[in-house]
Amino acid sequence: MEYDFDDTERSFQAMLRRYACERLLPDYARWDRGERLPRERIRELGELGVLGIRVATEYGGSEGACMLAGIAAEEIGRGDFNFTLFLQLALIAADLIGRHGTPELRAQVLPGLARGERLVAFGLTEAGAGSDAAALRTRATRDGECYVIDGEKCSISLAGVADDCIVFARVDGAPGVQGIGAFAVPLTAPGVTREVYHSVGERLSERGSLRFAHVRIPAAYRLGAGSGFVQAMEAFDYNRAIIALACIGAAQQSLDETVEYTKQRQTFGKPLALREGVAFQIAEHAARLAGARHLAYHALWLRDQGRPHTREAAMAKWLGPKSAIEAIHACLVLHGWSGYDESLPFGQRLRDVIGLEIGDGTPEIMKGVIAREIYGREFTSLR
Ligand SMILES: Cc1cc2nc3c(=O)[nH]c(=O)nc-3n(C[C@H](O)[C@H](O)[C@H](O)COP(=O)(O)OP(=O)(O)OC[C@H]3O[C@@H](n4cnc5c(N)ncnc54)[C@H](O)[C@@H]3O)c2cc1C
Repeated sequence: MEYDFDDTERSFQAMLRRYACERLLPDYARWDRGERLPRERIRELGELGVLGIRVATEYGGSEGACMLAGIAAEEIGRGDFNFTLFLQLALIAADLIGRHGTPELRAQVLPGLARGERLVAFGLTEAGAGSDAAALRTRATRDGECYVIDGEKCSISLAGVADDCIVFARVDGAPGVQGIGAFAVPLTAPGVTREVYHSVGERLSERGSLRFAHVRIPAAYRLGAGSGFVQAMEAFDYNRAIIALACIGAAQQSLDETVEYTKQRQTFGKPLALREGVAFQIAEHAARLAGARHLAYHALWLRDQGRPHTREAAMAKWLGPKSAIEAIHACLVLHGWSGYDESLPFGQRLRDVIGLEIGDGTPEIMKGVIAREIYGREFTSLR
């Protein structure tokens, strides 16, 4: 097993670390305080090649490896955790539309997605279907050359700003997982309404509900004839490792900042860094983050080799946010009163990272997936 980044990966990493620290970090708090993110800021990610990593070259992407997407998540997470949402959703849309969309749909959506001009949300969760997503009730009813979509999706990242949403819906009342289809729905279509929530964190993402009342879309916007639920789970699998790396990036940046601070800050005549009670905390969190990071890249590496990675991705999604939350919390406290002030980023980072401890599968569901992979499907209560 090759156990290092190659030259391309290293220079991509260095370029994004510079961008994250110089361009994203100084504005991190702005979007938390209600200022709306200008769309050109998202286009910058397109210009840097971040949003087209999983888009085919014929549509303006680079068809890069999942490892590159992981590097992008970790480095961007250092500057502004929430910008990794644009990456995550672009990766998912590129895979789902790239693999299952018609050539016309691919040509219509993917170039704009790669440039950061088109934002595609992912609409699975409903009021009565979160962890148990297959219990969803949104309906897609075939009517001639169209499908008519009715239902409501909840807690959708980018609900306030997305141009399209991949909506998972029960097709013509068919039961079970096989009865779920995936549809690319333009959010400008008549019958779509949006509501943006007052979120604890990740405010930039304008998370909210999308309602569909008799929304008529061309039948060709269905993504493949097979189970949309299986497609959704395939997309989740590797995005779970991406989420872990985004969380680890935010935590590693916090740790780096705290190392510098504890070298400077003196109590009782000595720098905090000389106290083992302080330095050992840094050592422990650095070790935990390193373990979670290796797990996440391992999951992505397996994906790039075309090998199973469900277990590793779920492990990374459980361990990454947990390790990150614990590390950021310690960094906040090690800064004393100033860590609890909004002029420093620790409180916001904590609130933001907790969002993706829940999103894409809670810790309990991740442990359920890991246990299912260990025991086998006959010993699971998950679908
Ligand atoms: C910031 C954020 C962004 C999100 N973005 C999106 C998005 O873009 N698109 C989208 O479709 N969804 C999105 N979601 C929704 C997210 O995927 C769901 O919130 C998540 O899957 C959990 O579902 P739920 O909230 O309905 O909780 P529930 O399923 O009701 O679970 C509630 C609690 O019970 C626990 N629990 C549930 N079942 C079990 C069990 N069998 N055993 C033990 N414990 C259990 C859970 O771990 C959780 O703690 C987002 C959520 C957040 C917070």
